[in-house]
Amino acid sequence: MSVTAEALSVKLKSIIRDVPDFPKKGIIFKDITPLLADHAAFTELVQAFAAAYKNAGVTKVLGIEARGFLLAAPIALALGAGLVPVRKKGKLPYKTVAASYALEYGTDTLEMHADAVKPGEKVLVVDDVLATGGTAAAVCELVEKLGGKVAGVAMLIELEFLKGRAKLGDRDIVSLIKY
Ligand code: AMP
Repeated sequence: MSVTAEALSVKLKSIIRDVPDFPKKGIIFKDITPLLADHAAFTELVQAFAAAYKNAGVTKVLGIEARGFLLAAPIALALGAGLVPVRKKGKLPYKTVAASYALEYGTDTLEMHADAVKPGEKVLVVDDVLATGGTAAAVCELVEKLGGKVAGVAMLIELEFLKGRAKLGDRDIVSLIKY
């Protein structure tokens, strides 16, 4: 990690709030709302992702419900790309494609509009936290199902001890903060 990347990581870490036992006992929830409320820090994180992918030919940025939306929108504008919401089952109004993934108990399903990514388009997948990687892997599969190419997976926070990277194969992953 470069000196500037390290400095940015230290700064962002100091602003993110740990909330123990939310939404259930044993989970330390990474609350990014103080970061979203800090104009300077929010700007820096958007610029860091935009700099990482400015030459990747990205034409669509996918935000994963719900916090991913908040990061993906400014990153899309900074990259000069379009924004695509990836939502929980049943929320999108038009024709959708869906991918299911395993949770601790049971499964969850994410959907995207069937015309949101065109064949050959380069896509950046964005979310706040990479934990076990199941969510991001399912979204990458959706992109590829539509013929798109995953140019990268941009995660604000990576919980390295959960080994989410392993589920993403050789896809390019940029995380600004690691725990
Ligand atoms: P996973 O599929 O296990 O990688 O989980 C990723 C999704 O769960 C992301 O959409 C995150 O927003 C959320 N998530 C998982 N762990 C945490 C955490 N410790 N704090 C905040 N969000 C989390």
